[in-house]
Amino acid sequence: MQSILTINDLRKIYIKKNGFFNKEQTEINAVNNVSFRVNAGETLGIVGESGCGKSTTGRCIIGIETPTSGSVAYDDGQYSYRFDSQQKQNNIDREYWHKVRYIFQDPNASLNARLSIYESLSQPLVKMGITRRSEIETKVSQVLRDVGLRSEYMNRYPNEFSGGQRQRISIARALIVNPKIVIADEAVSALDVSVQAQILNLLQDLQHKYQLTYLFISHDLSVIKHICDRVAVMYMGSLVELGSVEEVYSNPQHPYTKALLSAMPISHPRERGSMTRVALRGEVADPSCLPEGCNFSPRCPERCDGCDQYQYELVETNQRHIACIKA
Ligand code: ATP
Ligand code: MG
Repeated sequence: MQSILTINDLRKIYIKKNGFFNKEQTEINAVNNVSFRVNAGETLGIVGESGCGKSTTGRCIIGIETPTSGSVAYDDGQYSYRFDSQQKQNNIDREYWHKVRYIFQDPNASLNARLSIYESLSQPLVKMGITRRSEIETKVSQVLRDVGLRSEYMNRYPNEFSGGQRQRISIARALIVNPKIVIADEAVSALDVSVQAQILNLLQDLQHKYQLTYLFISHDLSVIKHICDRVAVMYMGSLVELGSVEEVYSNPQHPYTKALLSAMPISHPRERGSMTRVALRGEVADPSCLPEGCNFSPRCPERCDGCDQYQYELVETNQRHIACIKA
């Protein structure tokens, strides 16, 4: 399959100042040497516990965060663009901003309460150089209908809508410039379960209609299972396993994936199959003080000699990628 996005050795270290007169500095390793490809037309999930670096990865990909090192390359066959850690945030190509769009978890944060829906949705078009009101209105009506809202809603304000409707508007804002990739960061996490299902179905319909590739960030394994083709499992800033949803869910290889999946609620005992429950010891380590060797080793039930020596990178084993000494 053709890859549309290639992430290479992405790393993001945040510097936190503390102590007397902020003289001390701690480095927070939010993302460590993450590499993966996103295939055109697929939905790739990134899953992991809170604080494991999912959003930071997404934010580095769209360039609202400057990576400490590493590169991001985009190629859809007609347009290609590559940037790396040397590139300043405001130098990222505008065209790239239109090809890769972001949906945030909290629609209130992405929609300005003082702007009407028309004003919010027209902003990205104006940045693209489209200024004729009639053309903007046509596009705004169209995209509102595509996300299941009435076009008259363009004259209303965000506070007149429910959470689910607001998320639809955020989706419309992402889609109005006809992007190729949408990064959905916890796009349904803030919503009720019934509304979640509606939005997930809408995203699937829109994927066909707009020929989209999704990078779907979520901590929720059932949501990922529902919508993704492949999944990347992240732990403390590193990818530990990557493979098709079917294979990873039915036969997880990395001890962390096994533990995550065994904690997932199931609707019927039969679904658990031969999988046994894995209890995780201890807490997620502090990202400013990474353990020796494999980040997961202090909590790993399958820990052996050698685990504290080296952080293994993803290794391909029949379509599956695993970062573990056992691979
Ligand atoms: P969640 O599921 O809670 O959204 P996440 O997987 O998206 O978590 P990130 O938000 O990427 O995690 O954070 C990764 C790590 O980087 C965390 O330890 C977080 O505290 C830290 N971090 C994120 N943003 C910043 C920032 N602007 N300054 C300092 N540290 C940050
Ligand atoms: Mg996040």
